[in-house]
Amino acid sequence: MNIDFEIFSPVHQIQDKLFDEQGLKVFIKRDDLIHPVISGNKWRKLKYLLKQAQTENKTHLITFGGAYSNHLLAVAAAAARFGFKSTGFVRGEQVSNDTLFLCRLHGMNLIFTDRESYRDKSSLFDKHFADDRKAFFIDEGGASVLAAKGCSELVDELTDPYNHIFCACGTGTTAAGIINGLSANHLPTRFHGIPVLKNGGFLRQDVNAFLTEPADYQLHTEYHFGGYGKVDEQLIEFVRQFVASTGILIEPVYTGKMLYALYDLAGKKYFESGSRILAIHTGGIWGLLGMKDKFI
Ligand SMILES: *Cc1c(COP(=O)(O)O)cnc(C)c1O
Repeated sequence: MNIDFEIFSPVHQIQDKLFDEQGLKVFIKRDDLIHPVISGNKWRKLKYLLKQAQTENKTHLITFGGAYSNHLLAVAAAAARFGFKSTGFVRGEQVSNDTLFLCRLHGMNLIFTDRESYRDKSSLFDKHFADDRKAFFIDEGGASVLAAKGCSELVDELTDPYNHIFCACGTGTTAAGIINGLSANHLPTRFHGIPVLKNGGFLRQDVNAFLTEPADYQLHTEYHFGGYGKVDEQLIEFVRQFVASTGILIEPVYTGKMLYALYDLAGKKYFESGSRILAIHTGGIWGLLGMKDKFI
């Protein structure tokens, strides 16, 4: 089976009075439309990993994530789509939620793992799957050179020039891929990453580890809102306003923080008038289901 499918990820302009006043043209690349479950950057990250698994005759994908992980769900759905078995190690004690329900619905076997053992992923893999010659290890979040390679293809799809690209960062793999894509295409576009975790500064090492050549880029480390999955009223209000005024669904864990940063910087006259800015919608909107109580 050919592990691929046609990608639909159009670029839409975002209209806003703020952008008009500042003379900015802001666009969003709808990676969220790539697939309803293998959402956004997750398909880009998985494509070459799955091809690698197939090349090695591995039929069982093993991966890792928190109980709300978009990555776990993407692996579950991609495994189902392309005929793999899948197992997910879930960090923490046994719980049930909408994400894990969807993982199971796609046939993923879940193994709940205490936080201590979860830390050592390769020993977890060995302990459970040393004898399974069909098992294929995929790191948490899919972080790998192959995942970065998949993400770099986003840049090849762009038909118009941009001065700035904005993207939310978890592991930083997607960021590295996009930066590599910019380098490969010799584009002067400035890359801006918004770390959604509190350890923003550390991310630079992780991004650099996946760069094909040294590159200059910006990390805005002050938009994590207290850490991964943390939100406040302002962020929730921003997400509510954005969805209601654009019809583009976003969630507050990744894309919400990234767009909040973009709007905040625009308000602070960070961008030169005339700039064209592209935000990447990395998907993950099923995550909203775990956050309904924040929107009351
Ligand atoms: C996983 C994820 C990210 C982070 O991607 P990294 O490559 O780990 O930086 C960003 N946005 C969404 C919606 C995600 O699910």
